[in-house]
Amino acid sequence: MSGLIAIVGRPNVGKSALFNRIVGRRIAIVHDEPGVTRDRISAEAEWHGRPFTLVDTGGIGLLRKEKAGDVILKAAVEQVELAIEAASVIIMVTNVQEGVAPLDREVALRLRASRKPVLVAVNKVDDTKAEAGVDEFAELGFDFLFPVSAIHRSGIDPLMQQAMSWLPAEDVPGSTSEVQSPDETSVEPPASGPSALKLAIVGRPNVGKSSLVNALTQSERVIVSPIPGTTRDSVDVPFEVETDGVRQSYVLIDTAGIRKTRQMHGDIEFYSVKRAEESIARCDIAVLVLDAETGILEQDKKIAARIVEERRACVIVVNKWDLVADAVRQAQEEEMARRQKGESKHRPKQMVTLSDFGEWVQELLFFLDYAPVIFTSAKSGFHLDRLLEAVRYVAAQLKQQVPTALLNRVLRDAVERQSPVSAFGHFLKFFYATQVRRAPPTFLLFVNRDELFSDSYQKYLQREMRKAFGFEGCPLVLVPKARPKTIEPVRKSAPPSGSRRGR
Ligand code: GDP
Repeated sequence: MSGLIAIVGRPNVGKSALFNRIVGRRIAIVHDEPGVTRDRISAEAEWHGRPFTLVDTGGIGLLRKEKAGDVILKAAVEQVELAIEAASVIIMVTNVQEGVAPLDREVALRLRASRKPVLVAVNKVDDTKAEAGVDEFAELGFDFLFPVSAIHRSGIDPLMQQAMSWLPAEDVPGSTSEVQSPDETSVEPPASGPSALKLAIVGRPNVGKSSLVNALTQSERVIVSPIPGTTRDSVDVPFEVETDGVRQSYVLIDTAGIRKTRQMHGDIEFYSVKRAEESIARCDIAVLVLDAETGILEQDKKIAARIVEERRACVIVVNKWDLVADAVRQAQEEEMARRQKGESKHRPKQMVTLSDFGEWVQELLFFLDYAPVIFTSAKSGFHLDRLLEAVRYVAAQLKQQVPTALLNRVLRDAVERQSPVSAFGHFLKFFYATQVRRAPPTFLLFVNRDELFSDSYQKYLQREMRKAFGFEGCPLVLVPKARPKTIEPVRKSAPPSGSRRGR
């Protein structure tokens, strides 16, 4: 572990933009809506050859605690707390154009309590006039103020120089308070590769795959490259989607298969499943298209099962929603009327909202429960934007690398709360975990006895990890490894908390 720098601040001050500038790649999403789950982004970055981990906390968790009643917000609060706790240096971002806001003071209060070294990046100092407003931020009580403009890339160097000087000395194995990495040589390096993700649109015939491709490629937000990459039998089409000024590249694979260029003879079902299997094997994210009118059939389940087997990220699309929308609306109205008359108390629950239908889909495809469900109409264009948004979201989740300290903290807490016991009274002991791969997110977990690691326990840990890190749409692969009993856990107690200032 190479030292962690956390970017913290109230919403809309430019945290994601600054994150992008520092990392040098555009992977954070400039998208600050308070109260909404957003991507928890972290990246392995380098500054003049020195590696470190950068976490963008999103900032939601710094809002007043009493607002954190609902589960999503609670999880967000916990994530910010974890990031602050694990960080060696914190960059607090503020906005010169809005001056010191009450929420900035709250954030500062929380950060002072953490007793971590804090740098204040006063953002949006886009011209010399704005510079005059920087001193005002001294009232937050931190010694270091850095005027920056994430958009104009100015002021980043001095800020980072200071931040780097506060990181703990570079790791010599075993020399830091971090858990020592076990001597495991088979660890794969995190996948980096080209940034364009491969999308496969799969589903049985006539669910609307080609209609969706056509509708999407005509959308204003989608920029299709003029020259499709072509192989003999399939067409891969590179395209980009622009969201909030940020472009994300994708390759839509096997569009020839979708477009039914050739008439297929023989067993159409056999060929279409075969084709879907080939696309799934080649993709990063599978978009599984279902037909709202016909519902979920055996063949849909077969394709879904394949996506799970191949451990692909997935978004489920229920298409042709226009065909059932009227019936749903009617059912909704009837349900409302019944509720007003007080009749619905003892009746079985009717499916009337999209989330009811989403749950129903997830129940039928329970083995693919990690995939978000989107309802679309290729015909009317309904929710095509949401589909693009879901793909972008899942793509961002797939790039996540969980900082090792955070991962271990979350897993240790989870094991402490609930630990399986064998028939002989042996408890599961958890030593250490590390993310060894990004797509699919794969984690090695070192435990005392891997036989205690049942399917249901694995599910429990996956749930806890999703609560902490999201990973929506991504399968989580947990690989338990038994450690020889002679080796004691490296870290028996937490390191003393306290200021590391000036290290
Ligand atoms: P594919 O075999 O999965 O590629 O399906 P197609 O895109 O060829 O669509 C099959 C049929 O469904 C065509 O007649 C489309 O016009 C129709 N279709 C596709 N999407 C929609 C939709 O959202 N609503 C409606 N009403 N019809 C659709």
